[in-house]
Amino acid sequence: MDKKKEWARKGRTFIWHPFTQMKEWEEEDPTIIVEGNGVTLTDLNGKKFLDGNSSIWVNLHGHRNKTINDALIRQIGKISHSTLLGLSNLPAIELAEKLLQIAPSGEAPPGKLTKVFYSDNGSTAVEVAVKIAYSYWQNQKKKDRKKKKFMVFDRAYHGDTLGSVSLGGIDLFHRAYQPLLFKTIRVPPPSCYRCPLSLSHPSCKVACLDEVEACMKKHAAETAGLVIEPLVQAAAGMITSPPYYLERIRALCTRYNILMIADEVATGFGRTGRMFACEHEGVTPDLMAISKGLTGGYLPLAATLTTQEIYDAFLGEYSEFKTFFHGHSYTGNPLGCAAAIASLEVFKKEKVLAKLQKKIDFLKKGLALWKRWRHVGEIRQIGFMVGIELVADKKEKKTYAPEERIGWHVCLEAKKRGVLLRPLGNVIVLLPPLSISLRDLNRLIQVTGESIRAVTLRKKS
Ligand SMILES: *Cc1c(COP(=O)(O)O)cnc(C)c1O
Repeated sequence: MDKKKEWARKGRTFIWHPFTQMKEWEEEDPTIIVEGNGVTLTDLNGKKFLDGNSSIWVNLHGHRNKTINDALIRQIGKISHSTLLGLSNLPAIELAEKLLQIAPSGEAPPGKLTKVFYSDNGSTAVEVAVKIAYSYWQNQKKKDRKKKKFMVFDRAYHGDTLGSVSLGGIDLFHRAYQPLLFKTIRVPPPSCYRCPLSLSHPSCKVACLDEVEACMKKHAAETAGLVIEPLVQAAAGMITSPPYYLERIRALCTRYNILMIADEVATGFGRTGRMFACEHEGVTPDLMAISKGLTGGYLPLAATLTTQEIYDAFLGEYSEFKTFFHGHSYTGNPLGCAAAIASLEVFKKEKVLAKLQKKIDFLKKGLALWKRWRHVGEIRQIGFMVGIELVADKKEKKTYAPEERIGWHVCLEAKKRGVLLRPLGNVIVLLPPLSISLRDLNRLIQVTGESIRAVTLRKKS
């Protein structure tokens, strides 16, 4: 039998894919990636694709980046894994110092982040933040020990483990597990395109925050922390918040004595045009979760950063049992840390953030014309995170029915044209590696535009 066909058969037989209806998958011919170089992925048949979603939002400097490859080879020559339970290692130390140097900081409380707790994916980084916030209050005076709940936003996405699913608010992913989840206090996120208050920005003066504040006022005594995706609710469909929203959330958290947990898993490492989304509004969170771009998209690694004050609440005699009882087998993995250090080196050496600004503008200009298209409801962009919401009826902002799978069809068209994308429902997501050239960025825009038109203007058969 043909070798390629044999790989396809084995792939279908042995692997259960994430977020995938396997019945459908089993009927399809899978694309099997064998190689990557820069922003290009090559499959088993030699067909080349532009990696338009950075291999699910992780890749920053392209595949097979020389600086990161070399750093990994050097590290493999020393050691690939050793544990942080009872031991330390050089890459984990060096990376922690570097992360704290670039982490958001400012004059306003809490000042700065001073400690790094490692884990290995975004979901765990968020769960670590939640457990730390919870225990922080348990280690306080009796009155504060009532602070056990978390305030979360509708439509939020913080990962797929049960703790992070508890914080999530995307019905399709999260409802099925309801009986297994802990209770949270839900608040409405900003939603300018379909404002529930029927107001428009900026004349609204961000009135949607009033509800959040009312909720804080009511629940402050029982709330340990608020979890937020700063600037953009990514998995919800790249839904962006209006300017100063984050800054005001920070102020409210401080006023009501609620820890602010920033989930920068998607937004971190240059995605929004700054190193971290919090920087856009001069915000320092009390806890910050990072993962996806941390290793430049090379290896699974995550971290939860926090303040001295929170860390100090866990100090005591062993017998007081204030220890943070949490850890993972691969915590502080030296290879992952070496990749992350190399990725930060690329940022510096290649002036990645400075060069990115021109690309962000180019992308913005390239998409601007589509606003007039009949089925383009809204184009949302912050830096290199783009969501293009397709609607059945523009005037009414009527959504396409989920079973029409409009986003999926658009991505299928893009794939035929050599661009890999993955939609979020009716929202087409563009999230290319930061290293993409203007030429490739132009191709990404052209192909996406053609694909949207091919699908939305297609006559129904
Ligand atoms: C992807 C994501 C996560 C989960 O990260 P995993 O590594 O997939 O567990 C958490 N929060 C946000 C905002 C994300 O985009």
